[in-house]
Amino acid sequence: MKFPEKDYCLLKSEGVPEYTMGVTNSGGGNQTQLGVCFYRKKIIKMNKHLILHRDKYPNAYLSTFLHEIAHAQMPRENHNWRWKMAFNKLKMKYGLDENKVKAENKLFNEEVLKELRKKYAKQIWKCPMSDKLIYYKKIKKYPVHRYRCKTCKSVMEEVWRVEK
Ligand SMILES: [Zn+2]
Ligand SMILES: [Zn+2]
Repeated sequence: MKFPEKDYCLLKSEGVPEYTMGVTNSGGGNQTQLGVCFYRKKIIKMNKHLILHRDKYPNAYLSTFLHEIAHAQMPRENHNWRWKMAFNKLKMKYGLDENKVKAENKLFNEEVLKELRKKYAKQIWKCPMSDKLIYYKKIKKYPVHRYRCKTCKSVMEEVWRVEK
């Protein structure tokens, strides 16, 4: 997977020219890593699915990329105020519109990540109150009553699982 030249230019102009770009394959599970920064190895990895759809969600892509660049600029600071200041500075500089980022992240989740979760699901649960479906990449171990809806805390019902 290739990154556009402008991504590398951005790394250079933001003072982390020694960094390279890589790809993370996260997707299909309930937690999807959109980007990650390894400051010892000096590599920023972007999510494969976000790269593939970057033209459709340019603000979501840029926001994730800048988030990781801020980590590269502020190694070992996690998400503390120093990191936050660096991130905010980048957001201002590149004119990121928070509302667009939020809307695109939401769409990316609905249109891309949710489809991946459906595709890779090995087990499907349902909240009995809202009929909301939850897709799991791995089959949950029993006892069942441990799994509760995150929204209403009802005990989830299993509706489907892959045949062994
Ligand atoms: Zn982070
Ligand atoms: Zn519920």
